[in-house]
Amino acid sequence: MAKITNKIYLDYAATTPVDKEVLKAMTPYFSLKFGNASSVHSFGQEAIAVIDKAREKIAKLLNCQFDEIIFTGSATEANNLAIKGMVSKFQTLSSKLHIISTNIEHESVREPLKELEKLGHQVTLLKVDKKGFIKIADLEKAIKNNTALVSVIYASNEIGTIQPIKEIGKFLEKINVKRKIAGLNKIYFHTDAVQALQFIECRPSWLKVDLMTFSGHKIYAPKGIGILYVKKGTPIMPIVSGGGQEFNLRSGTENVPYIVGLAKAVELVFKNRERTAAKMLKLRNKLLNNIIKNNKSARLNGSFDPPTSLGTSSRLPNNINIRFPGVGNETLLVSLDQSGMAISAGSACSARASGASHVLTAIGLTEKQAKESIRITIGRNTTEAEIKETSEVIGKTIKKLKSI
Ligand code: PLP
Repeated sequence: MAKITNKIYLDYAATTPVDKEVLKAMTPYFSLKFGNASSVHSFGQEAIAVIDKAREKIAKLLNCQFDEIIFTGSATEANNLAIKGMVSKFQTLSSKLHIISTNIEHESVREPLKELEKLGHQVTLLKVDKKGFIKIADLEKAIKNNTALVSVIYASNEIGTIQPIKEIGKFLEKINVKRKIAGLNKIYFHTDAVQALQFIECRPSWLKVDLMTFSGHKIYAPKGIGILYVKKGTPIMPIVSGGGQEFNLRSGTENVPYIVGLAKAVELVFKNRERTAAKMLKLRNKLLNNIIKNNKSARLNGSFDPPTSLGTSSRLPNNINIRFPGVGNETLLVSLDQSGMAISAGSACSARASGASHVLTAIGLTEKQAKESIRITIGRNTTEAEIKETSEVIGKTIKKLKSI
């Protein structure tokens, strides 16, 4: 991929640029082939055929069925559909449901859960340890007779920690056998895999999940397109009603170019995943070592465990979340921006809020420590030269800010 600007962009967990192959695949569907997939004439037939092809491609790569892939307008919408859609469906059976999640979820899971609590449903948030992991024993203790859903983020957008989704899936499978004998409802399992897809194993059947969320703009497709994988037989109702598109789960005229682009982006992820992860891991570790060498008091937030092979790492290969004691992150980020370096304090969705990151406080940091932390996430475009320059600039900036 060619370099896009003279600035150094190290905020790939917030968003990625559209890959040129993705853009090429999408382009004809904006103006040349612009049909509405619901139209019966040839323009419509062309549109529905290309959507089918994209869905088929994604389903094949994720090793699932064609009609288990639901295109949405974002991962935020997909997370809302997974949680609210299931609760709406279950509400006809029982009035009060129990949902288990974690205290490090993305806002698009946290907020729907808060809304459901206000409606009288029960929510248990599992606490993560100092490294950012939940314990299956805590999940076991939290389960109640009316538990309907477990939702656990696969890889943290802030600290990159990867939760043991496959182990949780296996555990819930066992629990569900016992519940069936006892005449209790199955507990469904959702994971937000937005940050995971680019780097680690995401086939739902392998992970034993019923619902799984993906986003286009974290994998070099456009912003404004997402996927909810819905395993056949999972009870779920639409949260957007209308023309009945997406197997009646998400009404609205399909965004053909974005769907085509997303399928291309998923294809590229699967083609290059191991190579990309290995390249990023090398660059990330170099950057981390250089930063720590230049700033002895800097502390990495989250898991220190060395990553192993694909799917078994404890932290995403492109993530650094690091604290510079005594230096406020707002001042640091503004200074870095002035030096042409785009880095963030954490989730872009909560960047406008002035509070400390809920993820960093969840792993035991004080509010002050959380506000001394920054997130650096590297991407496909990141070069060795950028890594070198970044560590030098961070070193100089920290020294300057400490001397003021
Ligand atoms: N979940 C996670 C873990 C994310 O990082 C993001 C994006 O920041 C989202 C969900 C929301 O994705 P979208 O921007 O497609 O709504």
